[in-house]
Amino acid sequence: MAAEADARRVPGPSAPSRRVVFLGPPGSGKGTQAAALARELGVPAISTGDMLREAVANGSELGRRVRRIMESGELVGDELMAEVVTERLAQPDTGRGFLLDGYPRTASQAETLLAILEGEDSTLDHVVFITVPEEELVRRAIQRQRGADDKEEVVRERLRVYREKTEPLVDYYRGKGLLRQVDGNRPVDDVRQSILDAIEADATEAGE
Ligand code: AMP
Repeated sequence: MAAEADARRVPGPSAPSRRVVFLGPPGSGKGTQAAALARELGVPAISTGDMLREAVANGSELGRRVRRIMESGELVGDELMAEVVTERLAQPDTGRGFLLDGYPRTASQAETLLAILEGEDSTLDHVVFITVPEEELVRRAIQRQRGADDKEEVVRERLRVYREKTEPLVDYYRGKGLLRQVDGNRPVDDVRQSILDAIEADATEAGE
């Protein structure tokens, strides 16, 4: 009985849902921020980049399909990403929300996310947009030098793809009144606090 009640966690009035998308260029720190805030808010951080890297490391079929694309700095196809994200968001740990890092990255992916949420009668609560000046992004990338992914030409390609395909989502979400812009060119803890403030302010406005 208890296990049955647990299987589908319905948030009470004192537990606002947190369906949040993190937007920002590669190197803006959105992955770091999403992971830290996930612990604080008790909802999962879902990084599509981490999921794909794990698939590559495991040598799964998904991993074999995406490895070369990831190494080049290009985007994995929208249809394949729709499968990955639909499956992940169907997991029970997302009942009270999620912090999405790295998805959506294209207009088509934003539509897919909307459709997934509409299918469960829910909606996005906030889109946190972390801004960092271009010179700082390049400086961070050089400092990081994680491996193949961080070769200078790949870094530049990832930035170009971001500008072309993902940046238009900023206006899309601003138009929906969801965008919360945060200056990411500050110490990690200050950025974290600003994101929390932005999310809490919204919750208060919504009367929660
Ligand atoms: P990230 O760690 O979010 O920068 O993702 C690393 C790489 O994974 C990206 O450069 C893409 O090749 C791929 N990837 C991650 N998320 C997506 C997505 N939503 N759409 C397409 N490709 C993605």
